[in-house]
Amino acid sequence: MIIQIKEDINSKELNELNSALSELKIESYPVKTQKGHYHICTPKSEFDIRNIGQLTGILDVHRVSGKHKMVSQKWKVGQTTIDIGDNIKIGNGHFAMMAGPCSIESEEQIENTVQCLKKNGVRIMRGGVYKPRTSPYSFRGLGHSGLKMFYKTCHENGIKIITEIMEEKQIESMMPYVDIFQVGARNAQNFNLLEALGDVDKPVLVKRGISGSIDELLYSAEYIFKNGNEKIILCERGIRTFETSYRNTLDLNAVPILKKKSHLPVVVDPSHGIGIREHVSQMTLAAVATGCDGILIEIHKKPNEAATDAQQTIGFDEFSKLSNKVNALRAVLES
Ligand code: PEP
Ligand code: MN
Repeated sequence: MIIQIKEDINSKELNELNSALSELKIESYPVKTQKGHYHICTPKSEFDIRNIGQLTGILDVHRVSGKHKMVSQKWKVGQTTIDIGDNIKIGNGHFAMMAGPCSIESEEQIENTVQCLKKNGVRIMRGGVYKPRTSPYSFRGLGHSGLKMFYKTCHENGIKIITEIMEEKQIESMMPYVDIFQVGARNAQNFNLLEALGDVDKPVLVKRGISGSIDELLYSAEYIFKNGNEKIILCERGIRTFETSYRNTLDLNAVPILKKKSHLPVVVDPSHGIGIREHVSQMTLAAVATGCDGILIEIHKKPNEAATDAQQTIGFDEFSKLSNKVNALRAVLES
């Protein structure tokens, strides 16, 4: 159950609510986000909802059966729109293409990518500066100086950025230079990081865990929401299965299922999803056809020379052709 509380609730009304809940032996978790004030309750047995609904100070009471509460479709009318600023939005009919290298490598690389994005009307650039790598001896990103350079060059060109955060203690230093925080597959269940990102007022894209279920992804989002941040984007990026012919199994079934279960926007990362350059464009179009709210894709001027994930990175010409096809496909889907 989700109790939506009035913005201007006074302490007397709040005490009345708390005593009504304790009389009914209902445990409740207060949640305060950028958009509202709620009490999440997990009652153990049925009770008359009017006992709560009639209290002053209450806006609405929603019965939300099932495991997920705040991220559930069951209480929220309509889909969530994430506003990135400067008229860039994701979700609820707004589609976002997010493209860029796996890793930020140099100023020149940022500049040539920005030109490619602008040519294709893309307004969000991806790029990692803190890279989770399987081997500790691999390139692990340019770090904070790379982030500042990435942010500056993009913002001078009207482009927003999305970049991966690896740990809680990076939040403070990254905060001024990030438009969307990305939580990678390896950190999808780093609950301390998720909770800490619940305290910030910036959009967070959460990737599905390497072996994560759809429900686990929703719980990850619930951690962020419960701590106060409603600006969450879900990302399908492929899961590890018994199949070895490609890097991951891109689970496109997840898109309609997530969109049915949750009001949050759902984007797809076809690059990590299949991990093979020659098939990334096909899988992007397949993802768009599912009705997802955006794409996160790896591109590079010289894809073979990309510092990380070269095998799944596409070149600028291919990306331009793909962008045109994505736009044409979306026009067909909307007609
Ligand atoms: C990435 O986006 O480059 C990345 C490391 O992704 P994932 O967390 O999905 O592996
Ligand atoms: Mn990558």
